[in-house]
Amino acid sequence: MNDNTAALRNLPRVDEVLAHRLMISVEEAPRAVALEAAREAVEEGRQRVLGGKDPVDLSLGAVAARAAELLRRKLRHSLRRAINATGVILHTGLGRAPLSEAAQNAIADVAAGYSNLQADVGSGERMHREVHVEGLLRQLTGAEAAVVVNNNAAATVLVLNTLAAGREVVVSRGEMVEIGGAFRIPEIISLSGCRLAEVGCTNRTHLRDYRKAITSDTAVLLVVHQSNYRIVGFASQPPIEEVVALAHEHDLLCVHDLGSGALLDLRAFGLPHEPSVPESLGAGADVALFSGDKLLGGPQCGIILGRTALLEAMHRNPYYRTFRVDKLTLAALEGTLRLFLDQETLAEKHAVMAMLTASAEEIAARAETLAARLRQAGGDRLQVAVEESVSEVGGGSLAGHMLPTVVVRISSDDVPAGELAARLRAGEPPLFARVHKDAVVMDLRTVLPGEEDLIVTALGRALGRVTGG
Ligand SMILES: *Cc1c(COP(=O)(O)O)cnc(C)c1O
Repeated sequence: MNDNTAALRNLPRVDEVLAHRLMISVEEAPRAVALEAAREAVEEGRQRVLGGKDPVDLSLGAVAARAAELLRRKLRHSLRRAINATGVILHTGLGRAPLSEAAQNAIADVAAGYSNLQADVGSGERMHREVHVEGLLRQLTGAEAAVVVNNNAAATVLVLNTLAAGREVVVSRGEMVEIGGAFRIPEIISLSGCRLAEVGCTNRTHLRDYRKAITSDTAVLLVVHQSNYRIVGFASQPPIEEVVALAHEHDLLCVHDLGSGALLDLRAFGLPHEPSVPESLGAGADVALFSGDKLLGGPQCGIILGRTALLEAMHRNPYYRTFRVDKLTLAALEGTLRLFLDQETLAEKHAVMAMLTASAEEIAARAETLAARLRQAGGDRLQVAVEESVSEVGGGSLAGHMLPTVVVRISSDDVPAGELAARLRAGEPPLFARVHKDAVVMDLRTVLPGEEDLIVTALGRALGRVTGG
């Protein structure tokens, strides 16, 4: 008891901690935040004394060091850059598509000041903000007009509410997609004010199933791309051309939710075929919609393409005003779309395409170099191996398609793999890797060029904390 009283009396005071050089040296710290950190560090010390735990250093220097650490943590942005060594290219938890340099520059250009977002530079009149991307989308896909909203989920609601409110939307039972979270086709259709008419079976839907479902209440035949799953075996869906023909025969509209939204034929890049936007519009779909941050590799948004008259009606829908995107999104989208004008340089300049098309050999070379550096940094209680594996596209795109890759496998004699992975995540910048069979596994396919230095430092720190106790 007496010990406690003495220890509590010897605790450094908050103002002493605040004035300590370790605290002063933290740059650009608002006084109120520094004060909070100093108070927390002193309080932590008090709790330790009261808790009667093993003796800890509660000298002024030690408490100030802890306060400075807390202060730095408070000053750090919550949303910040992270390293993705998981090999999942469109990782929703890590922000889906990394933006290309062209998109980053476009954002920087309009972020600081004003822009011609909705003002026509010729006439000075108001215009749709989508004009900045409409020409490019027309050229790249053959669409007449474009509407851009916050994401593809919002796009679905805007499209269905505008074209089919109070009426029926016909969807195949093989396309009742759940994307994750609360996005499920049946719910989205009712949220849009429409009624769902399900047709066919999970594995097979025929054109005659659609035909039988059409009534005087039907407004739209909705085709949804099976973006994040595959039905294999005895399975079939009618080709989009046939659904379009049937819709038009009955004066109905055919809407195609493409999900991942490939702008070109991915086979030209050695990837599997994915229904592309030009294919969908070429087949006659009245409206096609897709995400901006999946295979397109742009900012989060939902892109709606189709005939001018239909899209004008969407612009007039009050939902449009609640879902529309800001200037930063449009800037990044324009920057990204421009890259598609030159297919020769696309795989080099487009961050997602670069990751999708990186060969196992290229990745192996990077993996070997990193492994050698990690071995050197990790000492003889660290095992580092290089081995073959597969990367995933992720983000509900190219489901089931695995990209051959080469990974770096790390295991430590001192730190279990799960704990090592947790320390790497808690580091600065946070590093996300896989854990597989008692090892931390890093896939360089999704590690941006130049991030290797950060990985070497991060591993050193993650292991260092252990030897230090
Ligand atoms: C991903 C996806 C969506 C949702 O898109 P978000 O941009 O994530 O809102 C909707 N439909 C399909 C088919 C998808 O693949």
